[in-house]
Amino acid sequence: MPEVPEIEIMKDEMSASLKGRKIERVFVKHNADLSSFIEFDLFESLEGAAIKDLDRRATVLIFHLDNDRSFLVKLYTFTEVTLTKMSNFNENDTQLVLDLDNGGFIWFSGIRVSDSSVTSTENVEQHHFFDELGLDPMDKALTVEELKEKLRASRGKLKNNLMTPWVVAGLGDLYTDEILFDARLHPSLDVSQIRHNEAESLLNSIRTVMGDAMNLGGSSENNWHHLDGSLGKFDEHISVHHRAGQPCYVCTTPIKKVRYNGRFAYICPNCQRFKRR
Ligand SMILES: [Zn+2]
Repeated sequence: MPEVPEIEIMKDEMSASLKGRKIERVFVKHNADLSSFIEFDLFESLEGAAIKDLDRRATVLIFHLDNDRSFLVKLYTFTEVTLTKMSNFNENDTQLVLDLDNGGFIWFSGIRVSDSSVTSTENVEQHHFFDELGLDPMDKALTVEELKEKLRASRGKLKNNLMTPWVVAGLGDLYTDEILFDARLHPSLDVSQIRHNEAESLLNSIRTVMGDAMNLGGSSENNWHHLDGSLGKFDEHISVHHRAGQPCYVCTTPIKKVRYNGRFAYICPNCQRFKRR
């Protein structure tokens, strides 16, 4: 699944080729409930409008249009967004196609109608997609206090909470494993008891891992790729995720796949010790 770094990269790459492009026609293919698209004025808002800019908030990709409206799409494991010159797309899969004035198309495959919307650009921030949405791991203004407060107000284990959108928005399995290893924190740590220095390490590691992911062009673990088809290189620098049985790069202890609360995490049992309190 693309996580925040991949969507951020996608947003930048798409911005470069889509700015100023006019959407000539909107096609909705198979399996999509057309009435819902009509309900939120998808066709009326998009057809004839030019793309001014792209934005991202958590896992939502936002297209700002020159008619003061914005088109929002929440991305999931099964959503694929492609820019292409071809029109013979796979009809069984593609659900929304935007036909551009330069002969290109934007395909949204596996798009969920309930997870796409149009709103006035002015009110994007107030859109219900962002209600109760947590901290953005890429937000440079994020503070240790905010992170600590948010975690302490939640219940349960650290890894689950980092993957919960109302705590931190847009982190999945891969990056949470890597962040926890970088911070030397155990995924089962009870968040209600997180200490200031632990929240500090966590925030530093969120920044380090997100920065590395951006510099290395994201991860292609879940079939994600750049617009030009090239793969992300973060996978070549993974410390723990999917490395069970292989030696830890820091201490050579074999990486372990641990199960808790029905979830899995990859840890170095030596670098990330569980401390009882
Ligand atoms: Zn280790």
